[in-house]
Amino acid sequence: MARRLGATCRLCRREGEKLFLKGLRCSTDSCTLARREYAPGQHGQKRRRGKKSNYAVQLREKQKAKRIYGILERQFKNYFAKAERAKGVTGEVLLQLLERRLDNVVYKACFAESRAKSRQLVRHRFVKVNGRKVDIPSFLVSAGDSIAMAGKDEQLKAIRETTKLLEDRGIPDWIEVSADDLTLKVKDLPTKKDIGIAIEESLIVELYSK
Ligand code: SF4
Repeated sequence: MARRLGATCRLCRREGEKLFLKGLRCSTDSCTLARREYAPGQHGQKRRRGKKSNYAVQLREKQKAKRIYGILERQFKNYFAKAERAKGVTGEVLLQLLERRLDNVVYKACFAESRAKSRQLVRHRFVKVNGRKVDIPSFLVSAGDSIAMAGKDEQLKAIRETTKLLEDRGIPDWIEVSADDLTLKVKDLPTKKDIGIAIEESLIVELYSK
């Protein structure tokens, strides 16, 4: 367990900023980044010195986005290809696709403290979309979708308790949450301003357009 915590926090240390991968712990004094503000590894303390090349800046931005949403390179490239084919500004469509993932929506509704935990809820069939259980974390929600948490009373009680602990986190305007019923409605698709994460999507577009 301890090893897994360390490995996750290494990702924040590598990017040099909090990516909020561990839920409630990230907002406490036990955040690893607050104690060790240098990159992991033998040469971590030297790594951030000096000017980064354009490529390095673009690469780091892409890695950051992947790590925040917990997805791997191939899947990220697929999102980018889909965003390129879609109407609209590629970078903004890319962010919208990432944000529409079911695991992200459950996290944003404060039903789980981190995206990793919300992915677990989806995989373990705790989530219904429009009345049907969906166990695919990458499922893309659409405007008008209704999402509900499902499970035994005890399990729902645990989710409600998490929701209470997270009530200060805030819920974006594009979803409407009923914390008592553990349900939410997707009012609209998210736009860049709704996403609330500092990702320079234009750098990612530049990287993949080389
Ligand atoms: Fe670890 Fe969270 Fe701090 Fe990142 S923000 S270093 S995941 S505790």
